[in-house]
Amino acid sequence: MAVVKERLMDALREHFGFDSFKGNQEKIINSILSGKDTFVIMPTGGGKSLCYQLPALMSPGCALIVSPLIALMKNQVDLVRGYSSKDNVAHFLNSTLSKAQIKKVRADLTAGKTKLLYVAPETLTKQENLDFFRELEISFIAVDEAHCISEWGHDFRPEYRRLKEMIDQISENLPIIALTATATPKVQSDIVKNLALNKANIFISSFNRPNLYYEIRSKRKKEQTIKDIVKFIHLHKGKSGIIYTLNRKTTEELADMLVANGVKAVAYHAGLDPSTRAQRQDMFLHEDTEVIVATIAFGMGIDKPDVRFVIHYNIPKSLENYYQETGRAGRDGLEGHCICYYSHKDVQKLEHLMRDKSLSEREMGAQLINETVAYAESAVCRRRVILHYFGEHYETENCGQCDNCRNPKEKIEVKNRVVIMLKAIRSLEERFGSEYVINIITGKTSPQINTYRHDQLEVFGEGKEFDAHFWNSLMRQMMLEGLIEKDIEEYGLLKVTDKGTKFLKKPYSIMVALNHQFDEDAMDDEEE
Ligand code: ADP
Ligand code: ZN
Repeated sequence: MAVVKERLMDALREHFGFDSFKGNQEKIINSILSGKDTFVIMPTGGGKSLCYQLPALMSPGCALIVSPLIALMKNQVDLVRGYSSKDNVAHFLNSTLSKAQIKKVRADLTAGKTKLLYVAPETLTKQENLDFFRELEISFIAVDEAHCISEWGHDFRPEYRRLKEMIDQISENLPIIALTATATPKVQSDIVKNLALNKANIFISSFNRPNLYYEIRSKRKKEQTIKDIVKFIHLHKGKSGIIYTLNRKTTEELADMLVANGVKAVAYHAGLDPSTRAQRQDMFLHEDTEVIVATIAFGMGIDKPDVRFVIHYNIPKSLENYYQETGRAGRDGLEGHCICYYSHKDVQKLEHLMRDKSLSEREMGAQLINETVAYAESAVCRRRVILHYFGEHYETENCGQCDNCRNPKEKIEVKNRVVIMLKAIRSLEERFGSEYVINIITGKTSPQINTYRHDQLEVFGEGKEFDAHFWNSLMRQMMLEGLIEKDIEEYGLLKVTDKGTKFLKKPYSIMVALNHQFDEDAMDDEEE
């Protein structure tokens, strides 16, 4: 039953002092209040916390909020307490509390004074806690940062996998709300499966950041690249920016060179002692330094609204990382320039970094790197590629806010080649992935192809005048067009969509721009 709108607005004003809801907040809150499982996908800054805080304050009993970030839990609790002016309305329970503090929290819970309890997943692994929670009235469970459940997310936490099992021990049929800022379709399906969300209401907000400009630049010799960066920074004199690099040594080196070129810059990485890090972070926040050169250790919890540029000196290890890292630019809604330097050598470096990982981790990592490479080499609107990665279809023909849209490449007609591709996928009964399909199109044999006698197919070798690189790029573009899709449940098997079927029945003109070519200019190598 939907809660009367007035009651909801009153509660919003009373507890938070806001006059209206942002985005999907109201619908999400109604979904939770009616006891439904709910899945919220909203970019950072969208206002996720309020989606569970308000219903928790309005419901009988106490809501459990599972969060992986012990350091941020106290902040969250302080915020809620600040709004409500009652200290026992929110608590957290984790390994940082003393015995006496735990006793106090438990007493408030038993007395029914607490509406929100933040817990770490480890807290739920302790039987005595589960037994204690079983005696309480729990309104619902909120699982924050739900992407931690999936190995495909950027922050996998194995304890998150056991959440459902632990939640069931507290009480069966507790409504669950899962929230995340980072869900590709693959991660989304992992979350729904793992938490066994039941007929969940799913709310996906757009991930588009219209004020960010995306650009790829070819990475050449070190001095040349640094010169390029210095030039860019001088053009943006007095503005704040972040430069991301792959390793600690490069952050130091790059910061030194920038300083030598008259830029106020400091390095930032996990190898610095905590006080230096805190000091440099402060310098950045208070604009005593213009540029921070950092490894990805920098950014968690940084909320500087007027970062004007984010430069990637090395390509990131996934598009998801790229989105999160560039997302730190232009939080205030004003200009944000995102440049990524790209070279084949850096791709190899990323692959090299995975050498000690398990086979499955390396395969997963390689696939994520592939997506980033495809993004860098593509001549299609960058925004379109990024949003597609998050399962979102971006209609606009020319976003005007990326290098590919501002300097479009010439397009060529590919109607007949698309027909070949779709026919190949169809004649393979949609049971193969891209590499296999491309082998068929280009007429390459393999023991498997021989066994299945796929070299007898009519389409075998029909596209051999173009190389695998061309077909790969065309395939990606047809995914963006929605003519084919990868089955995320079934190892990326290629399927022809309804739109693709219509195209096959009545083919129409399709123009595409070919990928950028990146020349293999010898580069000075940076050490790891
Ligand atoms: P997320 O967790 O999605 O990154 P937060 O919950 O931290 O986002 O919210 C981002 C900001 O938006 C916070 O400063 C919060 O106070 C503010 N906010 C949330 N909901 C509203 C609202 N309905 N009206 C105005 N500001 C809001
Ligand atoms: Zn664009």
